[in-house]
Amino acid sequence: MYKKLFIPGPTHVRDEILQAQAAPMIGHRASEYSDLQADLTPKLQTMLYTEQRVYLYACSSTGMMEGSVRQASTQRILNTVCGAFSKRWHQLTAANGVPCDKIEVPMGQAITPEMVDEALSSGAYDAITIVMNETSTGLMNPIQETAALIHAKYPDVLILVDAVSAMAGAKIEFDAWGLDVCLAGVQKCFALPPGLTVCAVSDRARERALQVPNRGYYFAYDQMDKRYEKHQTPATPAISLLHALNAQMDAILAEGLENRWNRHKEMAAYVQDWARKHFALYSDEKYLSHTVTNVENTRGISVADLNSELGKRGAMISNGYGDLKEKCFRIAHMGDLTLEDLEWLTAQIEDILGL
Ligand SMILES: *Cc1c(COP(=O)(O)O)cnc(C)c1O
Repeated sequence: MYKKLFIPGPTHVRDEILQAQAAPMIGHRASEYSDLQADLTPKLQTMLYTEQRVYLYACSSTGMMEGSVRQASTQRILNTVCGAFSKRWHQLTAANGVPCDKIEVPMGQAITPEMVDEALSSGAYDAITIVMNETSTGLMNPIQETAALIHAKYPDVLILVDAVSAMAGAKIEFDAWGLDVCLAGVQKCFALPPGLTVCAVSDRARERALQVPNRGYYFAYDQMDKRYEKHQTPATPAISLLHALNAQMDAILAEGLENRWNRHKEMAAYVQDWARKHFALYSDEKYLSHTVTNVENTRGISVADLNSELGKRGAMISNGYGDLKEKCFRIAHMGDLTLEDLEWLTAQIEDILGL
């Protein structure tokens, strides 16, 4: 049976978007392809409030998490860890042989400007990684405030942001906030099939990359730049997904960006209220996510059983991540889901659990 996905990626994909992928194949050095990329890129720039470059990579988000740390630093990187995905960024920075250290807070807590200030004050770092929305805990870090602090006190530190479960669901003003790298795979708030990553990169991050000798090749900005103005990519792009993304960006801009951000906030507020009423919220109330809610399983229900019952009714939620399995469950409210979808879902959960 088809299940509507209320999991934090991949998310529910509308039929029109699935069909947009079925456009006839085109050659990636043909003008038809350049026309597609030239049409699409400005829409992404509009959504990210940026006039700087936005690259398209054929990979899931983790690919570009790796690509970005390989070309960000000639000194050391500070990785900030507040859950599973920000931890992954630290692990893969180290696995690439890039000098790095981490600061870490317990799951459910945020990375604050004060913590970042203290860590950067050693002067050892020229780049920092921060997850905007920690999907494993349902927490949104105060990226804008942290970026402002970094610009005021540590102007040489590049700011790399994993916005995988935030981009296209929450406002990110790339230029005004002064971000240097902001990346996201499209299977979350963009509500597309997986396999494509969107990445905005500042001019100063592109300059920094040129000073990093072993910056790699596939993700290297200077390689991408050889084709950027021709509206092409050096390696074969995920053409079918780009058709889908182009169609989805039209829908996103037609919805209106502010409307889209507000719809996500409304869905979040609804699910948070529901969770407070029947269970509890796991993460710090001050930093709750707009796109996914981590519900603490205060009733000791079997999350696995709940999910299999939901499956019979055509829906799927997520168990807690890693150590939080069965201690929590996660309801995603991102992409093309609506408040009505969430009202339907919570009614099903109440019915199944007899709440
Ligand atoms: C899903 C997710 C990732 C990993 O994305 P992939 O597309 O599976 O590589 C990284 N960071 C965050 C915050 C995520 O939610």
